[in-house]
Amino acid sequence: MRQTDMMDLPFPVPTADSAGFWINTATGRLAIQQCKDCQAYQFPPLETCRLCNGTLQWTPISGRGRVYTFIVQEHVISPVFASHCPYAIALVAPDEAPHVRIPGRVEGDPAHVKIGDRVQALITASGDGERCFPVFDHEENAKDSHQPILDDKI
Ligand SMILES: [Zn+2]
Repeated sequence: MRQTDMMDLPFPVPTADSAGFWINTATGRLAIQQCKDCQAYQFPPLETCRLCNGTLQWTPISGRGRVYTFIVQEHVISPVFASHCPYAIALVAPDEAPHVRIPGRVEGDPAHVKIGDRVQALITASGDGERCFPVFDHEENAKDSHQPILDDKI
């Protein structure tokens, strides 16, 4: 797990539906909901399966996927992010569930982000270690400079 110097990051308040996501990121895993009945993956989290109303479980995924689309944030919306502007925010289609879109910041120069790029989720801890969240980086950078978030079983 990596650490960031952004101590004052705005952080979402976990809800009953999203608590499982944050519990998994706290242990270095990226997980999305999967229906126990029809096996469909879904994100963002909901109380029941959006397809069959079935019961859901949190399933860890590899964190690997493709940039489905992205924007470049050039305007500083919070002083916390000032040193990071401009940066890319992508919707990533994970390999295990290409129809799902997971939002996240993409590390590095946003001029190098393209639709279809291969990326890897990296679970990052805030400087105080209290909060963990996923960011994405291009697979080649993630392999060179970071530990994978999960072991090879997934
Ligand atoms: Zn279902």
